[in-house]
Amino acid sequence: MSSFNTVFINGQWTPAEQATISVFDRGFLFGDGIYEVMPVYGQHFLRLDEHLTRLSNSLAEVRIRNPYSKQEWKQLLADLLEKNQASNCAIYLQITRGSSGNRDHSIPQDIEPTVFACVNPLPTVPESVKTDGVAAITRDDIRWHRCHIKAITLLANVLLKEEGSDLGCNETLLVRNGKVSEGASSNVFLVINDELVTPPKGPELLPGITRDLVLELAHQQPNLVVTERSIDEAELHQASEILITSSTRELYPVTRLDEQAVGTGKPGPVWTQLFTAYQDYKAQYQS
Ligand code: PMP
Repeated sequence: MSSFNTVFINGQWTPAEQATISVFDRGFLFGDGIYEVMPVYGQHFLRLDEHLTRLSNSLAEVRIRNPYSKQEWKQLLADLLEKNQASNCAIYLQITRGSSGNRDHSIPQDIEPTVFACVNPLPTVPESVKTDGVAAITRDDIRWHRCHIKAITLLANVLLKEEGSDLGCNETLLVRNGKVSEGASSNVFLVINDELVTPPKGPELLPGITRDLVLELAHQQPNLVVTERSIDEAELHQASEILITSSTRELYPVTRLDEQAVGTGKPGPVWTQLFTAYQDYKAQYQS
């Protein structure tokens, strides 16, 4: 169990082990809900407005009423940090459609969404990742066609990622109709002919907050050409570097793909440059 034990559930602050929801909660029965994971450096929420905008977009896409205004969310999150005396952590926020006291596919009117928030430790990038990178496999992207929504319905992602774990891999890179979409729990960048490329936003991938930040930092590098375009599966095997991004992993170099070395088989110069830029960006918030 996390050392941060105070959670928020439906307007109440309570120790995690005492928090309860209805067995008829539609999140539990149907995976009918959405979530966010937000990294906090020091006491600073990285890209908070962007996370809250994505939260609001996900809710609108699945037709769940946003229970709070942006200002109310910010207050709730500040209270969550304070009650847990937390810094350098990751906030987990989940909203489900709530419960109408029975199990029925039809969306009931006038039910209150279930709101849950807790604090988790924020892992630091392991030294072995910085020196050696991580391994990944490729798999067919068997998920639904609305992957831009941060839905809690993650069974396909979980199983795809587990296939990678079974083979000692950190991530599973997904390919749909011959095009690279993203990782099972990350966005993906390739370095091809000295150009940094990443698939454009769309229904096939989550609009990652870290992806956007890395793109922003990449555009600031004087020597780097950056392009958002669709990527053929074959290009995965031609790339000199592959990078994956997420709020809890930041920026990892993928140095082995499907048991073959990527480039030199070591973290490459573009990863080094962007990882350094990312650390510099964060440093302004870490005291
Ligand atoms: N794609 C998927 C499928 C994810 O689950 C995640 C987050 N774990 C990401 C991309 C990265 O998003 P973010 O940078 O906002 O954490």
